[in-house]
Amino acid sequence: MSILVFIETDNGNVKKSSLEAVSYAHAIAAQNQGTVTALVLGKVEESQLGALGMAGASKILHADDTALDTPSIMAYASATAKIFNDTNSDLLILAQSALATPAGARTAVKVGAAMVSNVIEVPEVSGDSFKVKRGIFTGKAFETLTVTAPKKVLVVKKNAVEMKTDGGDATVEKVSVDISEGDFKLKVLETHKQEGDVLLPEAEIVVSGGRGLKGPENWGIIEELAGTLGAATGCSKPVSDMDWRPHHEHVGQTGIKVSPNLYIAVGISGAIQHLAGVNSSKCIVVINKDPEAPFFKAADYGVVGDAFEVLPKLTEAIKAVKS
Ligand SMILES: Cc1cc2nc3c(=O)[nH]c(=O)nc-3n(C[C@H](O)[C@H](O)[C@H](O)COP(=O)(O)OP(=O)(O)OC[C@H]3O[C@@H](n4cnc5c(N)ncnc54)[C@H](O)[C@@H]3O)c2cc1C
Repeated sequence: MSILVFIETDNGNVKKSSLEAVSYAHAIAAQNQGTVTALVLGKVEESQLGALGMAGASKILHADDTALDTPSIMAYASATAKIFNDTNSDLLILAQSALATPAGARTAVKVGAAMVSNVIEVPEVSGDSFKVKRGIFTGKAFETLTVTAPKKVLVVKKNAVEMKTDGGDATVEKVSVDISEGDFKLKVLETHKQEGDVLLPEAEIVVSGGRGLKGPENWGIIEELAGTLGAATGCSKPVSDMDWRPHHEHVGQTGIKVSPNLYIAVGISGAIQHLAGVNSSKCIVVINKDPEAPFFKAADYGVVGDAFEVLPKLTEAIKAVKS
């Protein structure tokens, strides 16, 4: 089985979610005598390529056309479809994102493949049978699909697989892709990045506060814990609606979807709309004074207690461990 992995970069750096996609592809390849080729489009720091080998790619194809330095869904789809066909690939893997998911869908159309998004497990492959599990209803339910098309595109949810770091060296080959003016019907003119030490969508750790914090004047305990952990801060929707916190910190179905290794929810009840934004987190810790708060059902660890007592003690304890 020949597996191509679409690699998403940010300013020349390979995204962690793309390393997970390579690890995912490696897991499939290991069970099905497959090969894993990573496709990098546009600018990438040479020093970043080693991680793709360690994640399980045996070959890296780099299309270093400067036109691809600026993200473009249509151009990425054209380039990926060409390489998919040129390499006689059977399977394309992408890590779910606002850019990669639509690029994967367009690529699927161009190469005549079936696409499955929101994939959460390595597929079961046996002979011609290819079964894949995906999350539906914002992660509240799962379904298993049989994919009968010979060519397949799988879009994998963040944090669905463990990242492999013990692979080897991958060969790097430059490739050219045919992209045309028609691939740039939409052009990015300017990009303004959210400012702050740790950006919420990319954060490895998030400390989030809800209405249980009582008011914006109490956010110091959230910020201090976040600062101690090197975390980003988030909040529930009512908190940003009431202007206690800026809107770009609002986490959930209608806000930012996060996928950190650790999500600490403080004074948040755990409404379904909030959970929809955090259910890709690897580990969820809930601090709430109500033992019946629904969030405890989704938590890996729970502390029943008053945030104003628990948080300062937790921050002090973490500082003590760190010093
Ligand atoms: C269409 C739609 C979309 C929505 N999208 C989102 C979304 O994207 N994100 C989102 O968050 N919400 C969203 N909501 C709102 C959601 O339904 C909830 O109303 C909201 O998440 C509740 O926020 P909260 O948990 O901060 O507040 P509350 O529900 O008021 O919960 C506060 C919690 O704090 C606890 N608490 C109180 N005092 C303390 C204390 N001293 N120490 C510890 N714990 C304490 C309480 O026990 C309680 O569990 C949406 C709603 C709708 C209808």
